[in-house]
Amino acid sequence: MVIADGGSAPCPCGSDRKLSVCCGPFLGGAARAATAEQLMRSRYSAYVLGNEEYLLDTWHTSTRPERLGLAESPAVRWLSLRVIRAEAGGPHDTEGLVEFIARYKPAGRANRLHEISRFRRDNGRWFYVEGVEPVGAGHGSMPGKPGGNLSSSGG
Ligand SMILES: [Zn+2]
Repeated sequence: MVIADGGSAPCPCGSDRKLSVCCGPFLGGAARAATAEQLMRSRYSAYVLGNEEYLLDTWHTSTRPERLGLAESPAVRWLSLRVIRAEAGGPHDTEGLVEFIARYKPAGRANRLHEISRFRRDNGRWFYVEGVEPVGAGHGSMPGKPGGNLSSSGG
């Protein structure tokens, strides 16, 4: 795929930098993310730009799906990314966590995704492993799970 000019467009990851000096080099294969946060940001940009190849390429083989089908899925508009915290995930770590909130618009209403992503470094390369929902993140509106899954029949 072609990224228009690649030059002066702002990076989708919300870093206030240009795509060409932020996530662009990672997406284009010219550079590799040195930290888990960089990888996470570049993967967000890949979702925005529909770069399925990059997403799969940076997905750890232990959890990687065969394909994402971004092209067929209904148009999701990614609105913004906010990285809340990053733990480890540096150039000398082998594991890292990045907690973030991504806002997106599936069809109509805006939604948000709050996730803690786990990353792992293999042979000097960072990979996305899996994402978990933060405990007590205050979602509030998850239907079907009224909490209290520990209730037993005892009484
Ligand atoms: Zn970026």
